[in-house]
Amino acid sequence: MTPPTQYVALAAAGDYLPGTIELALTRAMEELGGMEAFVHPGQRVLIKPNMLAGKSPDKAVTTHPEVVRAVIRMVQAAGGIVAVGDSPGVGTPQQVARRCGIMDVIEETGADFAPFSDSVRMGPVGRTFRQLELARDILEADLIINMPKLKTHGMMGLTCGVKNLFGAVVGMRKPALHLQAGTDKSLFALMLLELAEHVRPALTIVDAIVGMEGNGPGSGDPIAIGALLAGNDPLAVDSVATCLVGMTAGDVWTQRMAQQTRRLGSRLADIELRGDSLEQLSIPGIRPAQSADMAWGLPAWLHAPLQRSLSARPYADKQRCRQCGLCVEHCPPQAMQLTAGRLRIDYRRCIYCFCCQELCPYGALLTRQGLLLRLTRWLGERKRSGLFPGGRRPRPYGRTDEKIDSDQGE
Ligand code: SF4
Ligand code: SF4
Repeated sequence: MTPPTQYVALAAAGDYLPGTIELALTRAMEELGGMEAFVHPGQRVLIKPNMLAGKSPDKAVTTHPEVVRAVIRMVQAAGGIVAVGDSPGVGTPQQVARRCGIMDVIEETGADFAPFSDSVRMGPVGRTFRQLELARDILEADLIINMPKLKTHGMMGLTCGVKNLFGAVVGMRKPALHLQAGTDKSLFALMLLELAEHVRPALTIVDAIVGMEGNGPGSGDPIAIGALLAGNDPLAVDSVATCLVGMTAGDVWTQRMAQQTRRLGSRLADIELRGDSLEQLSIPGIRPAQSADMAWGLPAWLHAPLQRSLSARPYADKQRCRQCGLCVEHCPPQAMQLTAGRLRIDYRRCIYCFCCQELCPYGALLTRQGLLLRLTRWLGERKRSGLFPGGRRPRPYGRTDEKIDSDQGE
């Protein structure tokens, strides 16, 4: 049997004090051979944190600036020339970087700010993209360090290493890709996997010290997880992160599709785990986003008639909506309208991407769940809270792997 080529190191880290982060990052990177094993003197290194929106670090929406600072310093010590940037969902990259504290870190460390202002058209990429445009800053870097925040995600289940690279697509080109996938979450997950394979970051370092549960990635609640992860492959890092928060591959669309397409790094068996014990760092489970699907395991022919009962749909809370129009502007199929002082959604056009919920600065877009989805959630909550036998334990990752494989007729 060939040894695994995917490595993921874990290091416990209980807070964002600079000393804690420096120690955890040094321990994790030593397990991977040190930053010098990745960065050579004179290389232009692009660090890509999660800068979804201009929220303060305590909201857990963006990668914490102290983690970004520690990585910048380590790359500079290895001789790399650092730039930091991302394409946010709302606002300009400069505004978001300033509000989430990352711009201060860039200025204090003497790194460059990568504005992600310009994109380059690539033509067809992989099997899913008719055409793809990526930020010039990404394409011109010698090396990319991917720095996600571990959060729940309304559409994909979880956002970490693979999903964070969607920020390589600049501004309003993102809705066009959502539109290409339509309501097909498996296709969107394959697009994200192919995008990650194309961008190919040399390192993925995850801020999972405090993550997000509930209505992630923009409006959920912070949750203490207490770990930094570092690995040479974003999919392998996601496989470990999924297990770390007590989720299974069936709960996370990118993991599910990676396993179905037999991608290396989609199973723990493919990965060499280093550093602190995954078992000891794992938390019992995080509250999923209300709009996230459950792993139904139903035959495909039952999905259409049960669609409404199985899924969730967005709706606007009249009290909270300030009619700013941001969601209307970014809705990929233009299913939203502000008329007569009210926000309306045309559900015949809606593709259930939940971009509107992700971007609303006032948390005014809520989720209405179908009956079967609510019932499953209720059972899941009771199990997690220990009211059913087997509650308060992370679900074993391997069991869902087998289920997905058996769906393929093995
Ligand atoms: S739902 Fe949110 S984003 Fe949409 S118009 Fe209202 S406040 Fe603005
Ligand atoms: S209404 Fe919201 S969930 Fe529906 S397509 Fe528009 S942005 Fe996506």
